[in-house]
Amino acid sequence: MPKKSITYGSTQHPNNRAPYAKKVIAVSSGKGGVGKSTVCANLAVALAQKGLHVGLLDADIYGPSIPRLFGVENEKIGWNDDNKMMPSENFGVKLMSVGLTTPKSDTPLVWRSSVAISALIQFLEDVAWGELDYLIIDMPPGTGDVQLTMAQELPLSGVVLVTTPQMLSTDDVSRALVMFQDIKVPILGVVENMSYFTAPDTGTRYNIFGTGGAQKLCHTYGVSLLGQIPLDSDIMNLCDEGKMAVVFGKEEIKKSYQTIVEKIS
Ligand code: ADP
Repeated sequence: MPKKSITYGSTQHPNNRAPYAKKVIAVSSGKGGVGKSTVCANLAVALAQKGLHVGLLDADIYGPSIPRLFGVENEKIGWNDDNKMMPSENFGVKLMSVGLTTPKSDTPLVWRSSVAISALIQFLEDVAWGELDYLIIDMPPGTGDVQLTMAQELPLSGVVLVTTPQMLSTDDVSRALVMFQDIKVPILGVVENMSYFTAPDTGTRYNIFGTGGAQKLCHTYGVSLLGQIPLDSDIMNLCDEGKMAVVFGKEEIKKSYQTIVEKIS
């Protein structure tokens, strides 16, 4: 990728590197493995199901899971006549990820963060996204360079935070929440993933990772709980197969993502 010189905006007066998008929403988490990318992907598809034009930028540079989640992990990006990168597309969502630029899915990216940031800026500016109602950004976990840069380079409409119920996760997400509050990015709310498990044979509900973690977090910081998504082997299996739970999952699962999208929009 050619090197770009970057003139950073500020979080109070961000640049707009995505003037083609009416709204830009970030999906973030405190720690990895809480299901952030899965939630992000399903929310993007749920928005597309409403007939909206949706793009998804995978900014989780060092752990890009979006290509596999959308079943496009073997696709490679091409270029159009205007020298713009062509996004992949599935389930009505346009996608861009560094995972689509590496020769193989197990090729690691050993990049300094300045290189990673410049690749993300290029994905914002040099991809043929078309006109979008929503650009969704799958952020890396934590509170680092990418979060800060995205808040400087895009007028973020808001951020959705994903956590699991246990304290080790809510502690981390509270730091992310305070960071976004500090840099004046509106918090749209919190999604509690892997919230509970319903035994398929007995229907008994088990709170494997405890209860009330996200509720407590939302109460403490005065933000909304957007929804709770169960721990469900269907979600995991469908993810691995590149099938979206909001399309192929059980009604209860579809509804949980769609309800969150109603609240967001
Ligand atoms: P993160 O982006 O936070 O690192 P991922 O979205 O990659 O997390 O999810 C991590 C793993 O958890 C994946 O294998 C995914 O299929 C699984 N997973 C995510 N959400 C659920 C859920 N609600 N129920 C069961 N498995 C889930």
